[in-house]
Amino acid sequence: MSDVGNRLDHFPTPAAMRKVIDNPADDLKVFITSRESRCDECKQDLGRHAWIRLEGAGRAVCLACADLAHLVFLPSGDAALTRRARKHARLSAVVLKWSQARKRYERQGLLVEEDALDRAEQECAADAATREARRASAAQRRAELDQEYVVRFAARVRELYPSCPKGRETKIAEHACRKYSGRVGRSGAAKALDENAIRLAVVAHIRHRETPYDDLLVGGRERGEARTEVSDRVATVLREWTR
Ligand SMILES: [Zn+2]
Repeated sequence: MSDVGNRLDHFPTPAAMRKVIDNPADDLKVFITSRESRCDECKQDLGRHAWIRLEGAGRAVCLACADLAHLVFLPSGDAALTRRARKHARLSAVVLKWSQARKRYERQGLLVEEDALDRAEQECAADAATREARRASAAQRRAELDQEYVVRFAARVRELYPSCPKGRETKIAEHACRKYSGRVGRSGAAKALDENAIRLAVVAHIRHRETPYDDLLVGGRERGEARTEVSDRVATVLREWTR
């Protein structure tokens, strides 16, 4: 049994559990586990403190499999920034961690699209007292990236998809390289800049940026269903970028 499966035993009724797992009207939720866990989709061992999403029938999947790997983490603590980031984001997820002491899930922060966070940070920048802290947090996000790897990954994207819009290769590479668990960019194949690994990163990007996929997810659509719905559009864009 997975870690979060055990954690859910703390909920009194199946209805309460369902509410926590997936209320379509509510935010998407990502859980930080506190024991060894494994992705039910890619079967990768995620170690302790893995970030996972729960799907139907108690399946736990890593962020890459859940199509949330492109989001960046904004820790709780800055209410104005969080509110603004959420407002600008098409897709965001609340990050929760079980507190053994308080016997409840506690909010750790928000996973949000980087563009939305950038915009929110700019809007909040007028507040001088917190400006320095925000600069530090942005610097921290960049420091998480292996810059040399990002450059090589981006160059390979450009080579394989020469008609990809300007600047997207860097976006794709940065997202693929983030050091959250289960990110496609950190797999061995991606490290070797394997053509298929690059294609997966590009497809994920297209799905999020060039199709209504995220809106479908937010609307509570099953991931598989949403993927099927946008697959023609993804294939078309991929073809255009390959030319
Ligand atoms: Zn997975």
